[in-house]
Amino acid sequence: MKTQILLANGENISKCGEMIRAGEIVAFPTETVYGLGANAFDALATDKIFKAKGRPATNPLIIHVSDKSQIGQVAEVDSLSEMLIEALMPGALTLVLPKKDVVPSIVTAGNDTVAVRMPDHPVALSLIKEAGVPVCAPSANTSSRPSPTTADHVYDDLCGKIPVILDGGKCPFGLESTIINMTETPPRVLRAGSVDIAEVEQIIGSVNKSSVMTDQLSELKKPMHFVPQAELVFSAYYEGMSVTINSYFDRMTMAGRRPIIFCMNSNAGKYDDRAVMSMGDTVKAYAGSLFEKIREVEKNHDLIIAEGVPLGGIGTTLLTRLMKLSNGNVI
Ligand code: AMP
Ligand code: MG
Repeated sequence: MKTQILLANGENISKCGEMIRAGEIVAFPTETVYGLGANAFDALATDKIFKAKGRPATNPLIIHVSDKSQIGQVAEVDSLSEMLIEALMPGALTLVLPKKDVVPSIVTAGNDTVAVRMPDHPVALSLIKEAGVPVCAPSANTSSRPSPTTADHVYDDLCGKIPVILDGGKCPFGLESTIINMTETPPRVLRAGSVDIAEVEQIIGSVNKSSVMTDQLSELKKPMHFVPQAELVFSAYYEGMSVTINSYFDRMTMAGRRPIIFCMNSNAGKYDDRAVMSMGDTVKAYAGSLFEKIREVEKNHDLIIAEGVPLGGIGTTLLTRLMKLSNGNVI
């Protein structure tokens, strides 16, 4: 199959909407990462997503809507969820809710719950509107690869496996959505993501955060998790971490490895003339460029040594991703 990259203009968005309606799959940009979408009511179309990604059938998809009222078509919405929908959608927040029968079980991996979000990205919203149906979409990468934040990343992973990629430039956040399971009391955070959990708690009160870190560890026991081509390890965050990182870097270099350090801009000077990738001035910038920078450096380096960051806010999200990417390998 030939994979076309189409600029996300009005004509191409409506062509892709038509393709989704006709049972095809389309990669498209959102504010978090690129998604690979299909008509959420079409089990055969959804199956194409699992095949193209090599995604295990046990891993459910998120349904994307272009209008808040569409959420009620696929899920039962309670009053607490209504408050979050009102306050934080469109946005990088995914709610897990009781599913309606119209949603095929392949979308939810057999669960009686369904994950739903309304992306805050003009191309994603227009595409879903043009399709005229809710669009189920996981990230548009090969399973086990870092999530894609540009059309080129999608092409690198899925060329020949999908018909079309809508190119809407780089994703503004570069990190997946925050997922809250609203069917538990209190609601439970299933995945830390682009929306700070504190923002959610301001609206609905305290949520259960106990599995945010431990879930990453249980994830590691499964056969499938992110595997970047370069190995990644990270340091816990503390005052003298650059000393530990430098000595690890030197030992690995002597052992014939080609390491690179991922660090905050303000720390770059602490690593002398060692290979360094500055990840930005803020933890948010570091988190948002993580996937992109991994794909960039893995061509020339076989080991990434990443600085840790303090827990809290997007720092927690970043640490969950480092945990997953490193397979729990802390130096
Ligand atoms: P991705 O878009 O590739 O990040 O994958 C979507 C993620 O959403 C899955 O890996 C699950 O962790 C989560 N998810 C989707 N549907 C459900 C559900 N019904 N219950 C719990 N988690 C879900
Ligand atoms: Mg994914």
